[in-house]
Amino acid sequence: MKIVVCVKQVPDTKGGVKFNPDGTLNRAAMLTIMNPDDKAGLEAALRLKDQYGAEITVLTMGLPKADEVLREAMAMGADKGILVTDRVLGGADTWATSTTIAGAIRNLDYDLVITGRQAIDGDTAQVGPQIAEHLGLPVISYAQDIKVEGDSVIVQRQYEDRYHEVKAKMPCLITALSELNEPRYMTPGGIFDAYDNEVTVWGRADLKDVDDSNLGLKGSPTKIAKASDKVPKGAGEMLKGDSPEELVNALVGKFKEKHII
Ligand SMILES: Cc1cc2nc3c(=O)[nH]c(=O)nc-3n(C[C@H](O)[C@H](O)[C@H](O)COP(=O)(O)OP(=O)(O)OC[C@H]3O[C@@H](n4cnc5c(N)ncnc54)[C@H](O)[C@@H]3O)c2cc1C
Repeated sequence: MKIVVCVKQVPDTKGGVKFNPDGTLNRAAMLTIMNPDDKAGLEAALRLKDQYGAEITVLTMGLPKADEVLREAMAMGADKGILVTDRVLGGADTWATSTTIAGAIRNLDYDLVITGRQAIDGDTAQVGPQIAEHLGLPVISYAQDIKVEGDSVIVQRQYEDRYHEVKAKMPCLITALSELNEPRYMTPGGIFDAYDNEVTVWGRADLKDVDDSNLGLKGSPTKIAKASDKVPKGAGEMLKGDSPEELVNALVGKFKEKHII
């Protein structure tokens, strides 16, 4: 079985998101990590490899620095890494990103493509299903469990209060949730191997069956007008009183004071 896992290098938003004065993300001021849903998708692929045997290719589109997430994935057990990087691909929205990634995947043999459900920086959850659409593949999103049966996958698709079990013939694309599993750690041997092995680097010229008009900033129909961090909540005020009536009166008084009622 051949599995392609798409991994995105994202800013670690735990320490807060930092913006440039023009509203774009200040990526240089933030640490980067492998997108959590993608790491769970990779772990799912590694478990399929452990169980049935598989070749796993991890693929990322990004700056040359995104090589780091591929090395991390290879240190966890992925077999090959492909970095798609080119100046003309910069500023891509989800449409241009998925067009690029699909153009790269067309060069590969695969039974299964796994992406994360969503990236913690862009947060759109559009790229996985868009890649499937470009490649003409069935897609099962929100996977919380993945099993292989013959030439099909059986996936538990998460809903708020239940799950659906969905079966699809391979090749197909699955989008993974971080709740899918607990990703394994890199092994010391794996880290050495990951840095001994070559990462394949592809540029615009290596993308198959894509048109320049759908790539990079120029090929991106979405424009981000403005982005900002969440405004922190102000300190609350605790009302004191001996009875519910007294507290309600105090609360109504506050609302009147602020002209809310
Ligand atoms: C604050 C902010 C808001 C944005 N809003 C929008 C918007 O509304 N519309 C829009 O089109 N773009 C938007 N973007 C741009 C967005 O970052 C890019 O389109 C991005 O490359 C892909 O979208 P995403 O991060 O939402 O991916 P998602 O669709 O959330 O990602 C799903 C999965 O696709 C795979 N994937 C995504 N990108 C890559 C990659 N570069 N390499 C490998 N795998 C990948 C991963 O497996 C990932 O888990 C926004 C960016 C920011 C910073």
